[in-house]
Formats: sequence, C-alpha cells, structure tokens
Amino acid sequence: MKQPEKITYKIARMALHRFEEPCISGDRGSGTIFFSGCNLRCAFCQNHEISALGKGLEVDEDKLIYGMQKLEAEGAHNINLVTPTMHVNKLIHTLQRAKKAVKVPIVWNSSGYETVANLKKLEGLVDVYLPDFKYSDDSLAFEYSHAKNYFEIACAAVREMRRQQPADVFEDGMMQKGVIVRHLVLPNAVDNARGVFEEIAKIDKSMYVSVMGQYFPTAQVAGHPVLGRRLEEGEYDRAIRAFFHAGLTNGFSQELDSATEEYVPSFDLSLLEEFLELQKGARTRD
Ligand code: SF4
Repeated sequence: MKQPEKITYKIARMALHRFEEPCISGDRGSGTIFFSGCNLRCAFCQNHEISALGKGLEVDEDKLIYGMQKLEAEGAHNINLVTPTMHVNKLIHTLQRAKKAVKVPIVWNSSGYETVANLKKLEGLVDVYLPDFKYSDDSLAFEYSHAKNYFEIACAAVREMRRQQPADVFEDGMMQKGVIVRHLVLPNAVDNARGVFEEIAKIDKSMYVSVMGQYFPTAQVAGHPVLGRRLEEGEYDRAIRAFFHAGLTNGFSQELDSATEEYVPSFDLSLLEEFLELQKGARTRD
C-alpha cells in the first residue's frame, strides 16, 4: 500500500509577536508562524527575504504541531499563520491535528488574494481571519503586486470569511472568533484606501478594520517615484476620514512613527532551529 506523503512546510520564524492588533497580540504576544513564500509579489514587501527569496527551514508536520504547543505554553494568545495561503491543502490536515493539540484560537493571516473554494476548505478550522485588503484599484494591484483581478478576488474572499465567522467574539479583550481586515495605506493612494473601506462597509459596516500607516520604503523600492517615500501624515488622516465616511465604526489605527524597520521581525533561522530543537543534518536551508 502506498504510504501517504509526509507533510512538510518551509518556515522562516516561529515566535511570540507583540506588534499585531491589541486583540491579537494582547500582553503576552501572538504565536506567529511565518511561512516562506507568498502568492503575491508586492514590490514594497517588508518581508522580502522570506516572501520572494524563500528564506526558511523545512519543518515537518509533527515539528510544526510541537512548535504550536510550545508557543501556547509560552503564553501565546493564539496561533497566527502568516502567509499560509499557498499551503491550504496541506494545512487542512495539519489544522485538524492542531485543533486537538492547542486550545487557543487559530488565526489565518493572509494577503486576501485567495479563492472562495480554498477558504471553504478551512471552515471550522480557522477561528479568526486576518486578511489584507490591499487594493480597490486593480491597476495598482497589477503594478505593485503583479495581481490580476485583485479587487474582485479580495471582495469575495472577505465575504466568505465573514460568512464563516459572522460574529466577532472577544474574551478578556482578545478576539476568539471573527474577522479583522487590514489595509496598509500606500503613498499617493488615498482613493485606493477609500474604495477598500467602501467595499468593506458593503459587506458589513461592523467589520473591524485595521488602518495601517506603517508603510516605509524598503531597499527594493528605494528611488521609486511613489513607493520610495514614506506616508505623509495628511495622507493617513485622509484615509482615516475615508474610513469613517464609508460608515465603518470598528477599527484600529497606528502612530505613523511605527513606520520603521524595527517592527519587522527577524528571520534569523538559528532562532527557529533553536526554538524547534531541529536536529543538525535533518534540515534544508536556502
Ligand atoms: S502579501 Fe504581504 S507578504 Fe505577500 S508579498 Fe505582499 S506584502 Fe509581502
């Protein structure tokens, strides 16, 4: 009889992370697991070394589950799967095991560029959806992220997430179930932000939206005529006004001085090796 294939992932980081939204990070941190690779190719990506260059270590399913349990034991308020979309089929099996192995909520922290068919496979396995909704302007989506039909795909994805998690449930201020949509305001793109907020309001005016002002130009876009500069305070203020104008009421904002590389997590693979107690010789590295 054919043996089932061993499930493995390429992982760049597993650690408590304190810089998510307050109801995700809490006072102890979110148990983040950063998958290598991404189904988008954003020119401005702050995690370029893992999303585009694929930095990471091969970790099998048993070790991943062990890592989730360790994060929970260290106090993680949740298990936060970062850029998991490309692994959805494998994750169905892994999350079925994870739901028995850990008690904290499972968070799906994605680009928002994913199909409804794939999201349906996650029903009952994901407690909190934390998608990006980057663009209402498809020309920007194509120019900056090489993504076709981003708007239509992200709208359908967020609708499906809301269908699966129709109510936002909190315990001691921490989200246990629900949806938070993130929008990173880009330079010279307040209209793009407005379109995103208006669309989210059509899906559900009570949706939690995280309006992120932490954009900073990475080395990959240094010198770009638009992406090569930081967000101006006036732009962020206009985006916040657009949020309220769309009829949204629940959300999170950021201080613009959080727009610094200090908040980008370290992808030092020796930390991951240490955390998972990976055996020498039983690993691959890019
Ligand atoms: S979706 Fe996020 S992780 Fe993926 S390339 Fe874009 S910015 Fe990077």
